Amino acid sequence: MNTPEKKLDFIRQLVTDDVAAGLNDGRVHTRFPPEPNGYLHLGHAKAICLSFGVAQEFGGKCNLRFDDTNPEKEDTEYVDAIRDDVKWLGFEWDSEHFASDYFDQLYDWAVQLIKDGHAYVCDQSFEEVREYRGGWNVEGKDSPFRERSVEENLDLFQRMRDGEFKDGEKSLRAKIDMKSDNMNLRDPAMYRIRHTAHHRTGDKWCLYPTYDWTHGQSDSIEGITHSLCTLEFEHHRPLYDWYIEKLGIHHPKQREFARLNLTYTVMSKRKLLELVQGDYVSGWDDPRMPTICGIRRRGVTPEALRSFCDVIGLTKTNSTTDLALFQNSIRGHLNQIAQRRMAVLDPLKVVIENYPEGESEMRKAINNPEDESAGTREMPFGREIYIERADFMEDAPKKFFRLTQGREVRLKYAYFLKCNDVIKDAEGNVTELRCTYDPETSGGKAPDGRKVKGTIHWVSAEHAIEAQVRLYDVLFTQENPGDVPEGKDWKDLLNPDSLKIMENCKLEPSLASAEAGQRYQFERLGYFCVDPKDSTTDQLVFNRTVTLKDAWANKKKKT
Ligand code: ATP
Ligand code: MG
Repeated sequence: MNTPEKKLDFIRQLVTDDVAAGLNDGRVHTRFPPEPNGYLHLGHAKAICLSFGVAQEFGGKCNLRFDDTNPEKEDTEYVDAIRDDVKWLGFEWDSEHFASDYFDQLYDWAVQLIKDGHAYVCDQSFEEVREYRGGWNVEGKDSPFRERSVEENLDLFQRMRDGEFKDGEKSLRAKIDMKSDNMNLRDPAMYRIRHTAHHRTGDKWCLYPTYDWTHGQSDSIEGITHSLCTLEFEHHRPLYDWYIEKLGIHHPKQREFARLNLTYTVMSKRKLLELVQGDYVSGWDDPRMPTICGIRRRGVTPEALRSFCDVIGLTKTNSTTDLALFQNSIRGHLNQIAQRRMAVLDPLKVVIENYPEGESEMRKAINNPEDESAGTREMPFGREIYIERADFMEDAPKKFFRLTQGREVRLKYAYFLKCNDVIKDAEGNVTELRCTYDPETSGGKAPDGRKVKGTIHWVSAEHAIEAQVRLYDVLFTQENPGDVPEGKDWKDLLNPDSLKIMENCKLEPSLASAEAGQRYQFERLGYFCVDPKDSTTDQLVFNRTVTLKDAWANKKKKT
């Protein structure tokens, strides 16, 4: 939401001015128009937050419209997934539409343009059209079919519809200006013949309208006031306006903003589809994917994604946003809502030799220091516990504040622990630590005032439950995977270590009741959530959503 102190972005400023000027009687109506040819990604989230956000802030409406004019690539599977993702992000559309619902109206309008001398049927092949169009400094040439009579055009257009011609044999083109500096105005195609069934209209049509001929008219039919899209459509705006002016229908304002690009990932449906189809990932909802369903499965909250979209704001120039910014938004929200738990991912057994055998006790732990109402829980503690292997180092240097022989460390919510002996297997690997604890340090402090530097997490061995934990890293090794070195394919830049699976992790017993999708902070490790797809009561599976600190930035600094 916009607070009065915050400067309005250029879109919101425009809408504010339009409302003040009484344009469209002060009405604000936006739309989000995905093509159902893939799953939504983080870039779409930016567009959703903008169009739905503007509608909300100005007391207006926002439609969901499926821009389904490419029958080959589209599918109802995508339609359902898109609805799901928009809802998950927290938005409700005022009405739902399909561009294909307007095919009849668009056809009638095309007939009107033919009658008014603004459109003609052209027999040029795809290659000829391209050749005649010219280029940036090359003037276009008129098609030899440009001066066909209205009667002939009407007859041919009807026969195109009736299926008399093959794919590519004819097209309907707008008659604008083959000498225009704007390529989009050099007699653009309005209809192409395609003998292909459509996922909604079936075999009714064998000619399909182009994006440009569909989009503005769909906006107009729905009474859209502000049609917000990404920068690549800026040069299409004169065509958008031309069609609407020639038809004399309600005129929405198209305005453009920069696409979202994120470091270490790709953000195009075509590339994401290639990753899915080539089994580089487990599916559209693989938690490493920048899709909305992927990050949702990974444990990201809709609040975090919305706040990220708010933080990045809107610009009129394309740029790439640092992934760390997204991760900060995720941490920011999870820090407030995620309950803390203890989990040991790479367990090392510790036997506390002076703790009575066969006994155990309950320790009180705080669920969320950021939220008092989250309360406390009890954690069992006993003679045998697990600690993280990385929290012990043999003969450690002075700066190592975790566990080493002869020094004390604090077990969070329990006691001071001292390591006396290290047990190893035949290969010299540490398999167990023999320790003692100080029963006087129950409150985390020693009565004699002696200090310990480090605090580590732990889990009672007798009570621990097991789980698989999946650790994710960036999908690409290169900051900009679009910068492909010569002789390489963009997929060669995939990070081979983007997924690390940890088996037999030890978790505190309260996590046995964790439900699908539930999010936690594992103390000292990061934020995790129960995988909604693969986790079962017999085999719990957790996804790491994000680490506590920006481990990646640190790693980069070191190298
Ligand atoms: P892709 O290139 O990934 O296939 P697209 O632009 O073809 O994306 P559409 O389904 O046509 O995808 O997009 C629906 C809306 O989302 C459009 O208004 C488009 O401008 C917007 N959008 C798509 N990608 C981004 C992005 N990276 N950042 C911001 N908005 C985006
Ligand atoms: Mg598109």
